[in-house]
Amino acid sequence: MDIRVEKATTLKPLPDPNTLVFGKSFTDHMFLMNYDAGQGWHDARIVPYGPIALEPCAMVFHYAQEVFEGLKAYRAPDGGVRLFRPTENARRFQSSCERLCIPTIPEEDFVAAVRAAVKADERWVPDQPGTSLYIRPFVIATDASLGVHASHSYIFSIICCPVGAYYKEGLNPVKIYVEDEDVRAVRGGTGFTKCGGNYAASIRAGERAEEKGFSQVLWLDGVERKYIEEVGAMNVLFKIDGKVVTPKLTGSILPGVTRRSCLDLLRDWGYVVEERLITAQELFDAAESGKLEEAWGSGTAAVISPIGTLAWGGKSVEINGGQIGPLSQKLYDTLTGIQWGTEPDPYGWSVEL
Ligand SMILES: *Cc1c(COP(=O)(O)O)cnc(C)c1O
Repeated sequence: MDIRVEKATTLKPLPDPNTLVFGKSFTDHMFLMNYDAGQGWHDARIVPYGPIALEPCAMVFHYAQEVFEGLKAYRAPDGGVRLFRPTENARRFQSSCERLCIPTIPEEDFVAAVRAAVKADERWVPDQPGTSLYIRPFVIATDASLGVHASHSYIFSIICCPVGAYYKEGLNPVKIYVEDEDVRAVRGGTGFTKCGGNYAASIRAGERAEEKGFSQVLWLDGVERKYIEEVGAMNVLFKIDGKVVTPKLTGSILPGVTRRSCLDLLRDWGYVVEERLITAQELFDAAESGKLEEAWGSGTAAVISPIGTLAWGGKSVEINGGQIGPLSQKLYDTLTGIQWGTEPDPYGWSVEL
């Protein structure tokens, strides 16, 4: 893939890394590539960051034929920039595209595009502890037509924004409640893809959770409404009676790169890891008998987000006294050490730009 580079003529001042708000300030450039039926993907280019002009009838606005990814670039102590398992994102992007009838992009082209986007704006990768450059690849259907069918034209883009430290004062456990009204996804639907539509369906529950003083919701499966699926927009893992248990990937759950990395590390450390169905009832029973030792969400943004309080119906349980548990902390330290290049990486997960 040839990537044409058109440099911005004036560069923006870099924002203050101490006051960065996630997703508000974007870098100087963006990656763009077009797809047209008969021509395939073409015109890969880096151009100055700016608006994309679309017809009001463009398909993405009406039928949400769109998927995205999320990963980060990290500044290592030697000044170099690193990516974390970008090929995993490339694969997941392909599987999301297939489900949404969007033409796929070869893994190596996806990774090359991510590298080109970050290289064009390398000066934007912050170097304060805990900071990084968030990378958002996405593809949208651009056919100028209201007919419901797969679009014949698409735009693939990558935009980047610097992000501040997620945890400024240590890892604060969050309060979560079990959502038993709205569901995020069902088997046979798009739950396993990273598509915007999944988020649209999840916003209401998230807003209600905040109104009630919780950070996020614990999603149940959409059919029986009893099995745990995810927490907010993160995967969820539990330590119950010494074992680590996480919902298995049934099709309605997003296969997180952080989830997978946690499971790999845990197995390496000798833990028994179970990927299986787990009911909310089992979880609360374990909490009441003192066997629910730790609970945490996993995702690129927060890496590990410990759960301190779980509420369901009228019940509320505290996990590990509302404090982060030792295993959650070890996972966080190990993963962030590998990502920022401050710890050895025997797995080859962290790759140089
Ligand atoms: C992105 C995402 C995750 C986490 O995936 P990572 O690859 O670990 O960042 C989990 N659940 C949902 C719904 C997501 O969109």
